[in-house]
Amino acid sequence: MPIITGRENVKKIYEEAANRGWVIPCFCTENLTTTEAVLSAASEYARENRLARVPITLAMTVRYEHRPQAVNYTRTGRWDLGLKLFRADAQIASEAFDNVDLLLHLDHAQYDLDAELLDSDLTGYSSVMYDASALPLDQNIQKTRAFTEKKGSEILIEGACDEIVDASGEEHCEITAADKCERYMRESGVDMVVANLGTEHRASGQNLCYHGEAAAAIRDRIGHRIVLHGTSSVSNEKIGGLYQDGICKVNIWTALERDSSPALTEFLVRNASKAAGPDAVKRLAEEGYLTDKCLTGEVSSLGVCTTTARQEIIFGVMKEMVKNYLNLWYK
Ligand SMILES: [Zn+2]
Repeated sequence: MPIITGRENVKKIYEEAANRGWVIPCFCTENLTTTEAVLSAASEYARENRLARVPITLAMTVRYEHRPQAVNYTRTGRWDLGLKLFRADAQIASEAFDNVDLLLHLDHAQYDLDAELLDSDLTGYSSVMYDASALPLDQNIQKTRAFTEKKGSEILIEGACDEIVDASGEEHCEITAADKCERYMRESGVDMVVANLGTEHRASGQNLCYHGEAAAAIRDRIGHRIVLHGTSSVSNEKIGGLYQDGICKVNIWTALERDSSPALTEFLVRNASKAAGPDAVKRLAEEGYLTDKCLTGEVSSLGVCTTTARQEIIFGVMKEMVKNYLNLWYK
C-alpha cells in the first residue's frame, strides 16, 4: 500500500478512525527492524480481526535533541540521509502489507534546529509535528501560526501547547489547562494539539499518571483533536479509554526499545557460548559477569551470533507490543 499523503486524504483516515472510536497510534522508529515490526503487527492485527485494513503511523524525529532519530538512523550521523532511508524503508517495506494504510509523520520537528527541513517540500509526509513548545506561549503561537499559514494547505499539522518533559531532567511542567489549549489551537491554526497530560518522555518506570479528566476538559473545548505523547511512562491499563477523552493520536517510542532490550539480553546470556564463542564466555565467567552455566563449550553459531538473529528477537517483542496497543485502541 502506498503511503497516504495529501492533507485531505490524511484527514479522511482520521475521520474514519474517529467514526470507529479508534485512536491512531504513531510509532517512532530509528531502524528497519522497528519499521517492519510495526507494519507487520498492523497487518496481522487486521487479518486476525477480520478488518479490511487498518491505519498505522510511522514517525521519526530529526534533530530533536532528546532523541535525534534521523541522526541515529545511520552511522554517518547525517539527518538528511537518515530521513531518506526512513522514507525509503517505509515505502518499500509497506509494499508487503496491502491491508495497512501507512501514514508517515515527522515528530518533534524543531522550529529552530529543523528549520531547513520545515521549509522544504513536506508533501511526501502525512503529517508533521511543529514543535516550538520550549518557547513562551505567545512566541510559540506566533511561530506555529507562521508555519500553519505556510504549510497548512499541504499537510496535517500537529502543534505542541506545552512542552512534554524528559524524565531524565528535574523539570516538571504543569498539566495543560483547557482554556490555554483552546487558545493555542485557535490562534496557531494547527489541526491537532499535544497537551501535557501528566506523562513524560523516557520515564523509566510505569509510575506516572495519565490525567484523563484534564484531557476530557480539553476535549469539551476542541473536540477529539488531542495528541498524547510520553505514553511509555504509563501502564497499558491506564490508557485503554483514550478516544473517549478526546485523544485522536498517541505517540510511542521508548517502550518499544526499553521492553525489547531485556529479551535480547536474556537471549544472548542463555546462548552466550553460541553468541560469543567459548573463549569470550570463559573470560566473562572469570570476571564474574557470567556463571559456569554459560560454559557449554559451544562454538559461535550463525543462528545466534548474527545481526539477523539479534534483530529477530527485537522484532518479535516489538511486534507483540504493537499488537497489544492496537488491541487497546482499535476495539
Ligand atoms: Zn514526544
